[in-house]
Amino acid sequence: MRFFLPSDIYVEKNCVLNHKKDILAMGKRAFIVTGRHSAKANGSLDDVLSILKEGHVAYEIFSEVEENPSVETVAKAASMGKAFGADYLIGIGGGSPIDASKAISLLMANPEETEECLYNAKDLSYLPILAIPTTCGTGTEATPVSVLTNHQKGIKKSIPYKIFPKLSLVDGKYLKAASKNLLINTAVDALAHSVESYLNSKSNIYNRMFPEYALKLWGDQKKLLLEEGPLTDDQYEMLMLASTISGMAITHTGTGLPHGMSYDLTYNYGVPHGKACGYFLPAFLEVCSRYVPEDVDHVLALLGMKDVAEFSAFLKDLLGDYSITQEARDKFVGAMATNEGKLSAFPGPVKAEEVAYMYDASLKIEG
Ligand code: NAP
Ligand code: FE
Repeated sequence: MRFFLPSDIYVEKNCVLNHKKDILAMGKRAFIVTGRHSAKANGSLDDVLSILKEGHVAYEIFSEVEENPSVETVAKAASMGKAFGADYLIGIGGGSPIDASKAISLLMANPEETEECLYNAKDLSYLPILAIPTTCGTGTEATPVSVLTNHQKGIKKSIPYKIFPKLSLVDGKYLKAASKNLLINTAVDALAHSVESYLNSKSNIYNRMFPEYALKLWGDQKKLLLEEGPLTDDQYEMLMLASTISGMAITHTGTGLPHGMSYDLTYNYGVPHGKACGYFLPAFLEVCSRYVPEDVDHVLALLGMKDVAEFSAFLKDLLGDYSITQEARDKFVGAMATNEGKLSAFPGPVKAEEVAYMYDASLKIEG
């Protein structure tokens, strides 16, 4: 059993401003990667720029990362970063800009490579990354994962590299600018990470410390997501903490079937990532309970839920329903039958008909 997480991760109020010295130690030329708007609107970019200016660090900003970042965007950013001669990257935002910054750092450190290398695992180095998350879901600040959309191949999936941020600064205050929907969708992603990590063939008594703790944190906060109005500073901080710890959980086990099943909904219909995962969680728990009933009971107890039916009703209140056609359902079920990575993460010899059942029980199938 191994614990390996080589990122320096701080979770605290005013985290970015508190760590000026650590930020200035990252390098001399920073390439900043963000989405189009949110980093400006939630104050995270200003916090970073105030420190870089004070420290006379040269910087360039790439602010074109879209949700579910594409290989094309990553390649465009990498050529800008190379031309600028950056020696490190700062990824600010949700999972999209931070995941993009991981792939960009790989391309920037290996100028002889093209974006093809993103899909052919090689022994490549990458530039140091400072990650500043502004959503409470992906935990990418604590994972080596970068999920990219490849329009040419028509897929969305993780690239086969382990790229850990060197430094991650996590501050709940940036969530104040987030809509309730964004909080819900991303908090459900964190929930999915912990559920899929705990109920995973790679989980063990050592790495379960992460999902155990994160599920308890999630259970303590779950009702906040259904309430109107803003949360307190402490509540935002706790949502971020649950997300970061859930990231640590999947660093040690990876995700499972709900994440694998979610990618088709996001790629084909633009369903937000966390929401897409959340639809599949109740049926996943139900099928898991045929193989590891005590573990499922423990997950539910940590969440403060009495059974799968209560868990399912709670998620329905948060997320609503989603419909797909019979044709799409058949295509997705067929593709999942050969997804060895996700099938082997299941905590038991899951059957093809059980995987099909997870689609049928989770989505409304039309026609
Ligand atoms: P996201 O795609 O990064 O951002 C979603 C939206 O939220 C964007 O419109 C963004 O605006 C906005 N936003 C971000 N922070 C905000 C804030 N504080 N206030 C207001 N708006 C804000 O969403 P995400 O769910 O965090 O990331 C999803 C991506 O991460 C997916 O590609 C998913 O597959 C991946 N993922 C990665 C991991 C991992 O371990 N690396 C794990 C799970 C999922 P702007 O575009 O203007 O910034
Ligand atoms: Fe996720």
